[in-house]
Amino acid sequence: MGLLGAHVSTQGGVQNAPERGASLQCDAIAIFTKNQRQWRAKPLKEEEIEGFKENMKRFGIEIALSHDSYLINLGSPKEEIYRKSVEAFVDEIVRADQLDLPYLVFHPGSHLGEGEEWGLKKIAEGIEESLSRAPESRVMLLLETTAGQGTNLGYTFEQLAAIMDMVGDRERLGVCFDTCHAFAAGYDIRTPEAYGETFDRFEEVIGLRNLKAFHLNDSKFPLGSKKDRHEHIGEGEIGIEAFRLLVNDRRFEEHPMILETPGGDVWYSANLKVLRDLIQ
Ligand code: MN
Ligand code: MN
Ligand code: ZN
Repeated sequence: MGLLGAHVSTQGGVQNAPERGASLQCDAIAIFTKNQRQWRAKPLKEEEIEGFKENMKRFGIEIALSHDSYLINLGSPKEEIYRKSVEAFVDEIVRADQLDLPYLVFHPGSHLGEGEEWGLKKIAEGIEESLSRAPESRVMLLLETTAGQGTNLGYTFEQLAAIMDMVGDRERLGVCFDTCHAFAAGYDIRTPEAYGETFDRFEEVIGLRNLKAFHLNDSKFPLGSKKDRHEHIGEGEIGIEAFRLLVNDRRFEEHPMILETPGGDVWYSANLKVLRDLIQ
């Protein structure tokens, strides 16, 4: 089994997240290090940073991941938005580093009509520029697999590999596999055969050594629908079998597996229990 957990709230400050995670029996947590719907945020205070680190130990959370703001689009053809995105992304990297987080998960970006090839290049440029502005950073940036809604990029393994190859510093990049998104993008994991094929494909195109984390979500919409709507584990179009395969996959034993299911804390507890009951 991986390190199971959920994306928890940072209400009252990032230092409160570990206790919330522990109260839900999480081994791993994901957080926003700032309000995910605002461009700017005050820098983290020393007591928030220290409090977070202390509480990670005190409450026994093994790993915490950061998720970037929803406003950031490193693929934007609008220069002003692109600039703001790079600024905000650099700030995300700095915050993750201050909190000693090993991974920052981010949505690659949307081309908004300029075309996929153009968008992939723009995103790679944005990542490269952001990394070059945080040269001391130790956080690894994890590109999240996307559903391919609208003009979002990153919905094929080939697109993710293309971005990673274009960025000079490949060592600072990895992938977060979101089960709902990948399924909506057309990657089936519902049977042992389909599951095997999907991860064989991942190995061929990106390399499983670059797969560092999972978002565990069932999907409201069918395979290949390109719609990003999360459902409770086992209650959606993916179904329970895929999650049984994942939590028992020896290759992913040390991987954080983060729930982003709807409904908040009560439902996280229920979903975590469903996942733990699958472990053989
Ligand atoms: Mn995400
Ligand atoms: Mn996700
Ligand atoms: Zn999603």
